Amino acid sequence: MTTSDAASIPKPAGEPAPLTARDVAALNGQFEQRSPEDILAWAGDRFGRRAAIGTSFQGSGLVMMHLAKMAGLNFPIFTLDTGLLFPETLDLHKRLEDFFGWKIESIVPDLTVEQQAEVIGPDLWTRDPDLCCTTRKVLPLQTKLRELDCWITGLRRHQTRTRADIGLIELYTLDARGGSDIVKLNPMAKWPREAIWRHIRQHQIPYNPLHDEGYKSIGCHTCTRKTARGEDERAGRWIGFKKVECGIHTFMPRKIDFQI
Ligand code: SF4
Repeated sequence: MTTSDAASIPKPAGEPAPLTARDVAALNGQFEQRSPEDILAWAGDRFGRRAAIGTSFQGSGLVMMHLAKMAGLNFPIFTLDTGLLFPETLDLHKRLEDFFGWKIESIVPDLTVEQQAEVIGPDLWTRDPDLCCTTRKVLPLQTKLRELDCWITGLRRHQTRTRADIGLIELYTLDARGGSDIVKLNPMAKWPREAIWRHIRQHQIPYNPLHDEGYKSIGCHTCTRKTARGEDERAGRWIGFKKVECGIHTFMPRKIDFQI
């Protein structure tokens, strides 16, 4: 499937009406047969600069950025910088900006790590990682998403059981009181880990060297460890807690079309 096929995904004429859950269900069916480039091209057509890629520089996000670049799709890119990232991740941020020639916006929490320690107490991640993730990731993301109509992620169905049934396109309530929704696009949903790493190596895309040391999914240094062979890709996150998601992919209610 090539980017030229994106032309056959129906496009709205003029200013499009907001997507409904039923529209999204229909698009999801169409997207199952499409390449990530096609889906990205559709988002570029539909939302322009109101669509942005959010990445934590995991492998699938890197491949998606590369596919967008090769297709001439220059989406805004942002990343959540909690203040607790590995030095290797911060260095990768700069290397990716050089490689792609794109500025990658850092979204930071209101409180520095030191201020958080003063206000809520030290080492919050050891006592209440949900609150820590809410403060350092979810709330900053929520603010960022208010600028957008479409959030493009590198989520994949193979990553973990909680992501096994993600759609290629989903609709979420961003602000129930204000009545605003946001489209979430997961163009890499169907890609297995092996295909991701084949693409990265083939195109020599910069990646986090921690992957070569046994880290499969990389977040804050305080909450990430190496994974053993055969373990779930995200098994190295939040050791000692039942937590498997930081909350950025679960804080909004998903809108489903219940009509059959
Ligand atoms: S991953 Fe850990 S340190 Fe980072 S925001 Fe979440 S709880 Fe806090």
